[in-house]
Formats: sequence, C-alpha cells, structure tokens
Amino acid sequence: MGLPWPIRPVARGRCPRGLANWLWVALFVHGVVAGFLMHQASRLRLQRTLKKPVSVTGVGYWSGLENRVEFKPAAAGAGVVFVRADLPDPVTIPVSVNCRIEASSRTNLSVGSARVEMVEHVLSALAGLDVDCCLVRVYGEEMPGLDGSSRAFVEAIDAVGIEDLGAAIDPIVVDSVVRVGDDTSWIEASPPKFAGLSIDYELDYGDGPIGRQMLSLRVTPEAYRRGLAAARTFLPAADAERLRAQGRGLAATTDDLLIFGPDGPIGNTLRWPDECVRHKVLDLVGDLKLAGRPIHAHIRAYRSGHRLNGALAARLATARLQPVCS
Ligand SMILES: [Zn+2]
Repeated sequence: MGLPWPIRPVARGRCPRGLANWLWVALFVHGVVAGFLMHQASRLRLQRTLKKPVSVTGVGYWSGLENRVEFKPAAAGAGVVFVRADLPDPVTIPVSVNCRIEASSRTNLSVGSARVEMVEHVLSALAGLDVDCCLVRVYGEEMPGLDGSSRAFVEAIDAVGIEDLGAAIDPIVVDSVVRVGDDTSWIEASPPKFAGLSIDYELDYGDGPIGRQMLSLRVTPEAYRRGLAAARTFLPAADAERLRAQGRGLAATTDDLLIFGPDGPIGNTLRWPDECVRHKVLDLVGDLKLAGRPIHAHIRAYRSGHRLNGALAARLATARLQPVCS
C-alpha cells in the first residue's frame, strides 16, 4: 500500500539533499569569511620604528635605583632588543619568550647573568603604538616605575614620532583556539575578528573596592593612547604591606601607584572607574610582545597575569624562530 503523500519516499529523500545544501552553504560562508580575512591580511601595514632616539629616566619600584631607558631607531627585521649598556661588556637581550624568566608580579628577561626587570610597561608602550623595531638601551636592571603606567614612554615616543620601514610586518595570525590556565585564571586566543588584536578581559577581586571589572577593546594605537596608556599599577593594601615586610617595593608610595584600602585607592584618585582592568590589559599588550611578532587574534582572559600572559605568548610564538637566551 502506498504511503500518504507527505511522507512518500521522495519526500523523505529530500532530507539528506537539504542537509547537503546546508553543508554547501556553510562551506560557502566559511570560504567567504576566509577570503575576507586573507584580503585583510594582504593589506598588512609596514614595520615601524622611531624617527629619532628619545629617553625616559626614573626610579625602579622594587630596587629604588634610577635607570635611563633610551629608545633608538632600528632597521626592519630587528625587532625589539634591550641592551644593558651599563655593564662592562654590554649585553643584548632580545624580547623573546625564550628570554623570559619566572618572577612574581612582573616580566623579567635575561641572557646569561644579565637581566632586565619589569619590562612590561616599556614593551606595552612599543606594542600599543605599533613600534616593531627598536633598540632599547638601559643603564640598570629594573625599568623606571614612573607613575605605574606606560604614559611617559608613550609621550616620549610620540614626541619624536614613528615612521614606516621598507618591509611589511609578519604577524602571527591565530587560526585555532589556544588556551592556557585553569578554572581560576585563564587566557585564550582565537582567530582574529579583523587584521589585528582585540581583547576581552575580566578582572575579579571578589567583594571589595576593586571588585569585578570587564573591558573589551580593539587594540589600535589610538585606542591605546586614549584608553590604556595612563592606567596605573594597582595592588590591595594587604599585598603592599606583605611586600614591604619582605623589603620589596620600598621605593613606591601611594603617590606612585594605586594601593587599595577598604574604601578605594589610598591618597590617590582613579583616572577611570575601571582603571584596574585597563592596567591589566596594558600589561597583557606588553607581555604579548614577547611573541616577537604582532599577534592577530581575539584574546579572552579571566584573571590572567604575567605568568599566563607569557605562557600564551610562548604557545603562539614559533619557538624555532626565537633567539637562544642562555
Ligand atoms: Zn603593570
């Protein structure tokens, strides 16, 4: 006996064909998106450096020692390298995940016994302004703390200007999800939404004056200058006391950085209500510079700090192209 018209075999046969059609549509859309991203990638900007040398001087938070940071123009392909110019035999320290050494609450690099410490704000200024190639001569181990932000470095670089070099950037374009961390803190890179970097960051200090803060930002030089560069280092008062008890951070006062008591920053005023999360994004932008090339990705982060930021940069970097630092 024949089946009623709506469920005859020919009608049932339409189902797989419909599915196939949807698959073709999905493949077509995927192709269009991939083509768009490749088109974007083909419009890569040129590598950039400073037009002239410029320097910033200040005292390190941890050491209390004065240091001068000289930013000097460099050729295409040079990347960013530090030089410990104060040593009897100056040592070059490449900005690379391979040179990163473990440290709490900051990013340090070393080659052999020569170190540069708390480099994240210097690197953030360079990364935020799209400066790809720069020789950074320093005259001590620890970078100046200044006001706890990267603003002074940005203003110095902007004072001399930035220029294009004769070669295009070679970005790391993330093509699949890369994640590091655990449920309590993590950071994840996924394919870019456009030719560049975007960040969603969530800071969570639970109940209290810092609390939870979220920031979503497409990282461009304009957005960096306007929304990140002036965001200052912060820490809860209990952490500040613990560091002082260990004899560390003695050079920093409540004027220099944001120390949070129960009612908010002690003896200081916020530059934005969400200044803390802005600073966390400033740090992240600097730490990603350790990958050695601009990163095109969408980054999501939850309570991520220098250690996880560095771990993600290491996963994204092409290890065999990185310098040896020992
Ligand atoms: Zn910082």
